[in-house]
Amino acid sequence: MQVFLSEPRGFCNGVQNALNLLDEALAKKLKLSVLNEIVHNKTIIKNYQDKGVVFVKDLKAVPNGGHIVFSAHGVAPDIRRQAAERNLQIIDATCPLVKKVHREALGFTKHGVYIIYIGHHKHEEAAGVYGEAPQNITIIENSADIPLIPRDKKQYAALTQTTLNITETAGLIAQIKKIFPGLIEPAQKDICYATAARQEAARNIAAKTEAVVIIGSRNSSNSARLKEVVEAQGRPAYLVDNYRELPAEIKQYSKVGLTAGASAPEYLVRECLAFLQNAML
Ligand code: SF4
Repeated sequence: MQVFLSEPRGFCNGVQNALNLLDEALAKKLKLSVLNEIVHNKTIIKNYQDKGVVFVKDLKAVPNGGHIVFSAHGVAPDIRRQAAERNLQIIDATCPLVKKVHREALGFTKHGVYIIYIGHHKHEEAAGVYGEAPQNITIIENSADIPLIPRDKKQYAALTQTTLNITETAGLIAQIKKIFPGLIEPAQKDICYATAARQEAARNIAAKTEAVVIIGSRNSSNSARLKEVVEAQGRPAYLVDNYRELPAEIKQYSKVGLTAGASAPEYLVRECLAFLQNAML
């Protein structure tokens, strides 16, 4: 089997910074709680749990005055308020590119522009941005949600989650523009460079292989989008946390691409590479 490694793949700067912050806090022997998952990767979460980090779904689970880490996906201002009221010590690992979208949401709201936020209803990143101005934002996930957008606003702007499928999002924005021709798109697209570059690389690797393995967790938005990109090229895509989850059918291919979502550690890619290369011996 020939294995083609996609480049770039794996950790983006936002994930690496979040993990560095957590490691620095652990090195100070702080007792840490993290709100939700620091990044969406099962292996990483398990490794930190083994080091004593507690992952919570609600701030109420954190003792008064304790240390709370906000994940790379960011939080709504209400969560920050609650943390301040409880005197929690905040370690903020929000990715700067997510913070940028929060600032854009605030800016549009201040200027009376209604926001159409394209993202996944249940994702923490979407919830965080929505929390900046719930009265001024509609979250839409796909074209079926377009009717949810109120029609009585003077001006509209689109913002997006940072980890969306670039092609699908462009199509959705084009559909929205037909209904709201004056739609303002952010000068700089919100889908981050890391997401865009990994999708482009996955598309290229799919074009020269028979199937692509994506190392990442299923709840990782950017990893799931890599799977979609590969499948859109007509290739089977296997999204797995590690090589042990690969089905036996992987052995039928002679050319396989290998990539990883932005929250997947490189050592899992290397393990998978070794497995795939040995699988054919
Ligand atoms: S995928 Fe992009 S927005 Fe998300 S953490 Fe990484 S760099 Fe930041």
